[in-house]
Amino acid sequence: MKASEATNFYFQKAAKELRMQGQLERILMLPKREIKVEVVVELDNGEVSSFRGFRVQHDSSRGPMKGGLRYHPEVDYDEVCSLASLMTWKTAVVNIPYGGAKGGISCDAGKLSHQELQRITRAFVDQIHDLIGPQLDIPAPDMGTNGQTMAWIVDQYSKYHGWTPAVVTGKPLELGGSEGREAATGQGVFYAIEALMHDEQKNIADLTFAIQGFGNVGSFVARFIHDAGGKVVAVSDAGGAILNQMGIDIPALMAHYQSAGTVSGFTHAEPMQRDLLLTIDCDVLIPAALGGVLTAENCKDVKAQYIIEAANGPTTPEADEYFRSVGKILVPDIFANAGGVVVSYFEWVQNIQQFRWRLDRVNMELKATMLDAYREVRAIAKSSNCCLRTAAFQLAITRVASATALRGLETDSFCMIKT
Ligand code: NAD
Repeated sequence: MKASEATNFYFQKAAKELRMQGQLERILMLPKREIKVEVVVELDNGEVSSFRGFRVQHDSSRGPMKGGLRYHPEVDYDEVCSLASLMTWKTAVVNIPYGGAKGGISCDAGKLSHQELQRITRAFVDQIHDLIGPQLDIPAPDMGTNGQTMAWIVDQYSKYHGWTPAVVTGKPLELGGSEGREAATGQGVFYAIEALMHDEQKNIADLTFAIQGFGNVGSFVARFIHDAGGKVVAVSDAGGAILNQMGIDIPALMAHYQSAGTVSGFTHAEPMQRDLLLTIDCDVLIPAALGGVLTAENCKDVKAQYIIEAANGPTTPEADEYFRSVGKILVPDIFANAGGVVVSYFEWVQNIQQFRWRLDRVNMELKATMLDAYREVRAIAKSSNCCLRTAAFQLAITRVASATALRGLETDSFCMIKT
């Protein structure tokens, strides 16, 4: 099943429970606008090359659209459409005033020089600067892009529109980035786990965790769990997996990772076959790497009682249905990994106010936002007797649908927007 089919499946399941009118359902499922451009630049060797760039703007009924920009040789267009739609539901679940978008340029960032990447980024902005902006669509880093890419976008966009740091988030601190942004997604995942375990009357210090992925999200989640006394017993990344039933020393693993670039070879744990991590004996499984890793084939072997979707789309609908049927509790991506976009929102707010928040304020507001969303999702799950994913989609769809309807579903202007 394609990524967009999985997202639409979850969306339609929740829309059906809400008894949503068919026309509105179709409107909310389709992207508002798809932009495709050719980005033509001169490479360092003097050759002229062209790269396909695009942006999918899914929905803007609750505010400007928000989502990452990725540089990858095989930017998967279907996956980007799915991620743009997920951003709409994610921003709605945590109730920040944004819609959803996603974009990318089909290029291999690892093989391009700093100057080539800069030229590509600036040429892309030249083509789309009228279609992005602080009140329109606000990109952020994603695969293959980073704070430097965002800095180039600010500079190029500002040449057309005047100084506008709020056009992107995930910027370096020197250009109006926010304290706490780098750790935000992992921090938000940790707050989600804390809220769930409080409800389940469990103590993090008594639980064992397995984490797939040790990049930005996985490494910060591991650190916060470790700091709270939880036992991280297994970690994997693209290079392999490690296991220590006594609990992995996460600060030591981070030091090893800094020098080795992989968790493999860490001497205070046993090596393990990479994909076995998903099915090892533990209380909490945290997929924090790829989409589509929990499938019909492996779901029956998953032993963890709790699954926290730190990655986007790690669970296929078949696996999701199985987990629900056997009473496992799954915290869905549109809530669990929303911490990054929440702190992006704080960055945008700080840019607009031209005021800087301290880290403790960022984390306090992030925690409050995640807790509010958790309580609302959990309440819907209880009252509708459904899983947390369906409840999260119901909450998000209700918010987006009512904003859409309030703005005037029947008016000409609405019809124009949806062309
Ligand atoms: P990243 O590139 O920093 O890290 C990805 C990690 O996954 C790396 O450690 C990599 O080695 C590992 N990995 C790749 N293939 C693997 C495999 N087959 N088995 C095990 N590990 C593998 O990416 P990230 O920013 O940490 O994002 C991880 C996931 O979280 C993605 O699904 C992303 O869409 C999602 N996400 C990220 C953010 C964010 O703010 N970074 C926000 C929301 C969602």
